[in-house]
Amino acid sequence: RDPIHIVGGGLAGSEAAWQIAGGGHRVVLHEMRPVRGTDAHQTDSLAELVCSNSFRSDDAQGNAVGLLHQEMRSLGSLIMRMGDANQVPAGGALAVDREGFARAVTDALEAHPLVTIVREEVAGLPPESWGPTIVATGPLTAPALAEAIGALTGADALAFFDAIAPIVHRDSIDMGRAWFQSRYDKPGPGGTGADYLNCPMDRAQYDAFVAALIAGEKTGFKAWEGTTPYFDGCLPIEVMAERGPETLRHGPMKPVGLTNPHDPTVKPCAIVQLRQDNALGTLYNMVGFQTKLRHAEQVRIFRTIPGLENAEFARLGGLHRNTYLDSPRLLDATLRLRARPSLRFAGQITGCEGYVESAAVGLMAGRFALAEARGDTLPPLPQTTALGALIAHITGGHLTGGAEREANAPRSFQPMNVNFGLFPPLERAPRNETGRRLRGPEKAALKKRALTDRARADLAAWIAGAGEPRAAAE
Ligand code: FAD
Repeated sequence: RDPIHIVGGGLAGSEAAWQIAGGGHRVVLHEMRPVRGTDAHQTDSLAELVCSNSFRSDDAQGNAVGLLHQEMRSLGSLIMRMGDANQVPAGGALAVDREGFARAVTDALEAHPLVTIVREEVAGLPPESWGPTIVATGPLTAPALAEAIGALTGADALAFFDAIAPIVHRDSIDMGRAWFQSRYDKPGPGGTGADYLNCPMDRAQYDAFVAALIAGEKTGFKAWEGTTPYFDGCLPIEVMAERGPETLRHGPMKPVGLTNPHDPTVKPCAIVQLRQDNALGTLYNMVGFQTKLRHAEQVRIFRTIPGLENAEFARLGGLHRNTYLDSPRLLDATLRLRARPSLRFAGQITGCEGYVESAAVGLMAGRFALAEARGDTLPPLPQTTALGALIAHITGGHLTGGAEREANAPRSFQPMNVNFGLFPPLERAPRNETGRRLRGPEKAALKKRALTDRARADLAAWIAGAGEPRAAAE
């Protein structure tokens, strides 16, 4: 049988190769290093960790990435197996000896009889003659391939920078201060006229907020990210603040067309708007708040916004170089490019974020490709699992398709780490043994416990239905 080709031997490509070969199918893995380097990689090892050596929390009951670790282990993940084998002490986190880890992944793939590793740059779209191919070239995809993907998918469909506004868990917003309303009550496509969450500020709060943005500690651009990539309409919030004390309240924080139902007689000086970020309505992004403030500074300063005092952030803002697709519009439910289904995408280029998430999407891409090569289809992965929630975020899997899909897809798709906001809400609010409704940290802990219990049960049922590819864990 013809091999499945994979372009890019990073976290995603290595995991995909392992899953396919573990299922008994041949793989050709094309990795350009050391023939051509990237601006961040230092070695020629597969699965090199370009920055931190942490896979983040390993707590499978209280943390979504810890749950993802567990799910990947149960599906025979190479990245998790070698992460566990090369662990270094890091409290509740899973941190690894980066050289030992990358060497172990490289050795395992080099030793696998069904894996051929070719050290070459794929300098354009993979040829049609390769047949089914997985592209897992990551945030630093080499320019010739990135240009070819951009030409195939359309100019707006491939981004080269994240301009990320912070994303807040809806249930951490204080509705005693915030309210739902669209500006001038205008309904957007598919909206109701009450689509935004609004947080009001008086003059003193606004002035203090602007001063805090200007004084807050920022991160710089790395040399390889090139010149400052600001473009109009997407300036960091603190750069707007520096342009003058009134700039923000005439820009993203303008208070017009909105009435505070908690105090209708007082006109706010400024209003922060949050827009629904996922179809489930569990996450909201802060409109126009892309920023280069340090993460701790964002939490400190944004929690001074009335209504966000206890905000929990699903992700914080940023502006980074990153190559990624507008996946909800471009990819089908099994990560294939709609415009050319022989190409499947995996890893950070699909719009997930992080080492573990990239490997997880590689794991699923490998399994989808393997099933397709065998003439099988995998049953849909439940969105209640960490893997399913991540794939649904990327593919817009919870949307129904066609015109409705276009109307409902988030307006700007942004890369994201796995988090509980991507999971469908629980059908019943969690209660403790006394049956009383809970609040605060006790409620949050029980909710996470209930979400992870549901995920485990649903993944076990899915594995039983999908069948384990032979020898995946060998
Ligand atoms: P990669 O691991 O980058 O793998 C892609 C591979 O494709 C590379 O080996 C590359 O050489 C190869 N390639 C590219 N183009 C071609 C081509 N045309 N032909 C052949 N091969 C090609 N995530 C975290 O969780 N923690 C962090 O601390 C962290 N730090 C980061 C720092 C930087 C500077 C960047 C850019 C990203 C960081 N990330 C981090 C985000 C992300 O999780 C990692 O980049 C992760 O490695 C992505 O996995 P991947 O498999 O999609 O891509």
